[in-house]
This record gives sequence, structure tokens and C-alpha cells, in this order.
Amino acid sequence: MIYPIYVYGNSVLRKKAQKISKDFEDLDLLVEDMFKTMDSSEGVGLAAPQVGMDIQLFVINATDIDVEDEEFVEGFKQAFINPVVLEESGKEWAFNEGCLSIPGVREDVNRKGTVRIQYYDLEWNFHDEVLDGIKARIVQHEYDHLQGVMFVDRVSPLRKRLLSARLTAISKGKVETDYKIKIPHKK
Ligand code: ZN
Repeated sequence: MIYPIYVYGNSVLRKKAQKISKDFEDLDLLVEDMFKTMDSSEGVGLAAPQVGMDIQLFVINATDIDVEDEEFVEGFKQAFINPVVLEESGKEWAFNEGCLSIPGVREDVNRKGTVRIQYYDLEWNFHDEVLDGIKARIVQHEYDHLQGVMFVDRVSPLRKRLLSARLTAISKGKVETDYKIKIPHKK
């Protein structure tokens, strides 16, 4: 199934997500549906809180991403379960980020270039990886979602003030999207 995307203003996006246990029911199905939901809304990453679940899970499919160095992201399709970012390092760089939960808004966000992350895949294999470039960027954005952080929290106070009316509008559903959304306080 395709989930509606929980947009800005839904409280689940502000919670710290819970660890997933190995006996979590139908995790395979959830991950499959999250990939489907992400693909149908043309996202490159999707975190569980964005489909209303406060669990430590995000999926990434950057295989079709439009970047100059295509080889770089080739095959970057992965589910991250119970991820832990151990270290962020390297020079900060700005990248114009967007988010399915904040439709129509894009802002330059500064983040460090390299990230070391530990996580489990869907077969519960443990991974300990160092990522950089666009891979690190997507992981940092999705990992933020599991901490209740959204990319607009990382822009300057002035930029955020300029955005506030749009964020309020989004939280009331006054926004055009090509995908189904869930706005706060509405079934
Ligand atoms: Zn996002």
C-alpha cells in the first residue's frame, strides 16, 4: 500500500523514534510499502515518522537521483533499521534540501561532509559504514527525522521566520502535492 505522507505540524514528526525489536511484526511489508510510497512521491528518502510511525527506520533510494556523478550513487538503495550516527566529520557544505513532509519548500542546509553510521538491514545484518557526498547528505536528513528534527530547523532564524507562514499553511493542508498527505487533526 501507499501511505499518505504526514506533513509539517503532525506531532509524530517531532518525536524521538523508538528502537525496533527483532520480532516487530511484518517489518518486511512495512519496508516494502515505504519504498513504494517513496517512489510514488518521487522522494529519495523516507523516514517512518513521515508515514505516522515513531520507529527507528528509514529507507533510501537514490538510484535515480539527478546528480553529476551518477556512478557515485549507483546501487544506493537501502533500508536502515535502528541507525546510530557515531560521528560527523569533514567540512560543512551547503546543499539545497527538500522534504516530502514540507512540500514545495527548499532551503540550503549546511552539514558536515562525512558521516559514520551503524545500522541493521532488513535481514538484521549489522553494518558500520562511512559515507560522504550526497549519500551522507540523504542519511543525515533521514536520521534527523528519527530525532524529531526537520531540515527547516537547520536554517538561519531569519530564513525560518520567512518560512513560517508557509509552514503554517502546510500544517493546515493549504498546499498542492502530487501525493496524498496527512494533515494534523484530520483523519
Ligand atoms: Zn524529510
